[in-house]
Amino acid sequence: MDIIPISEWLPSKQQGKPMIVAGPCSAESETQILSVAQTLAESRGVHLLRAGVWKPRTRPNSFEGMGEKALPWLVKAQQEFGIPFIIEVANGTHVKKALDAGIRHLWVGARTSVNPFSVQEIADALEGEDIPVLVKNPLNPDLQLWIGALERIHAAGIKKLVAVHRGFSTYQKQLYRNAPNWEIPIELKTTYPQLEILVDPSHIAGRRDLLHEVAQKGFDLGFDGLMVETHPNPDQALSDPKQQIALEQFDDFIAALETKQPHFNDQITQDKLVHLRRLIDELDRGLLENLKHRLEIVEQIGDYKAEHGVTVFQLERWRTIIQDRLEYARKAGMDDELIRSVWNEIHKASIRLQTDVVNRKLES
Ligand code: PEP
Ligand code: MN
Repeated sequence: MDIIPISEWLPSKQQGKPMIVAGPCSAESETQILSVAQTLAESRGVHLLRAGVWKPRTRPNSFEGMGEKALPWLVKAQQEFGIPFIIEVANGTHVKKALDAGIRHLWVGARTSVNPFSVQEIADALEGEDIPVLVKNPLNPDLQLWIGALERIHAAGIKKLVAVHRGFSTYQKQLYRNAPNWEIPIELKTTYPQLEILVDPSHIAGRRDLLHEVAQKGFDLGFDGLMVETHPNPDQALSDPKQQIALEQFDDFIAALETKQPHFNDQITQDKLVHLRRLIDELDRGLLENLKHRLEIVEQIGDYKAEHGVTVFQLERWRTIIQDRLEYARKAGMDDELIRSVWNEIHKASIRLQTDVVNRKLES
């Protein structure tokens, strides 16, 4: 996928610095929108303002967003404070209404990215438009479905494409509202290194007291920015009241996050890293040499077993080996699981090797 980096279409976003999208879960009134826009325009490092206009709600009869009557509020705030708004679209009509009103940044929500028909309808409505689109992960932990949604939007000609990780639904009650399954966005990044991924700590955590740790984890893992819900009066919010942080606390929230660079910038730390990596290289070489030697001995034993008609696999011997290695590991304070899985693999390889030796002997 050819993707244009955020810093090339959003002038306020510096290369290498995290992208911050912030704003209320839902647009509720013109006053709320103007107050959010005014505060965040003065705030450090907010690049894009968010607000939900059409809200996908789990149950009917909950607040379903102000709908298109909120669009002029957002457009007014964009003009007055000079930061664009981004809104969620769930079908082709939403896309058309947003674009007609002058909203030119859109996101696809988790309840939509799960459905290829809806994503395709949005993609069709976007055909020929040159606007940024953010695609949240689908509700269920399915990387291919997320990739599929990104591909459909991309195939409509959208190159200002960004992914948003908002966690995954689970039936089991747990600390976070949505399970982070960090390995999924990491795998997405590995598949498409040029695709920038934002983390949405609000929908992952579901509680404002857990926002910091989730956002920090996102930065520690090297993701490219955040989408955070913030509201002038979170407890009175018409949607997601528990997870939104007060507008007045937003700056402190961002300031408390430590951003990490992919490389060390001072020479001493860099030298130390080089030294430690050399040490790792040496230790790995030692591991490889030992492993090679071990396999040679295993082969000799295979020969010996074949000559004397003894079975390749001997349960007692395997039990002794694994018990001995685990006991050593425990005394040395090493992780049981690691030792068990490493020796399982070594043992499997040894059995394979000896079986080959025996078969060769039988053939000759
Ligand atoms: C939202 O951002 O308010 C929202 C509905 O998010 P999601 O699609 O991640 O549930
Ligand atoms: Mn929300």
